[in-house]
Amino acid sequence: MKKLWDGIKGIYQLHLQIAPLMKELAEAHKENEALRLRLRELETKADIRSKVELRGRVYYLTEPLKGYSEGPFCALCLDEDGILITAMPGAVAGYWRCRRCERKRHA
Ligand SMILES: [Zn+2]
Repeated sequence: MKKLWDGIKGIYQLHLQIAPLMKELAEAHKENEALRLRLRELETKADIRSKVELRGRVYYLTEPLKGYSEGPFCALCLDEDGILITAMPGAVAGYWRCRRCERKRHA
């Protein structure tokens, strides 16, 4: 009976030792996932940057990018946040408007 009791105690102690390790492993896994997502995001941004050229105050795609028109795109949104936002013609020729920038400014 003592042997059984010692076995149960041993298993319980192992469980106590394993539990924090399992928690650490889960946290490392979560962090790994977040880093993987961030890497993909940065790769996408680098990919976009390699496919645009600045003409005047806006960017245009130099090669097709799935899901996007050829431009023009807001230079500020691409330079600051790495995203392509279609620029709209402004009231004055040669000037462009960006709905996202306008929203950010008024937020
Ligand atoms: Zn913008």
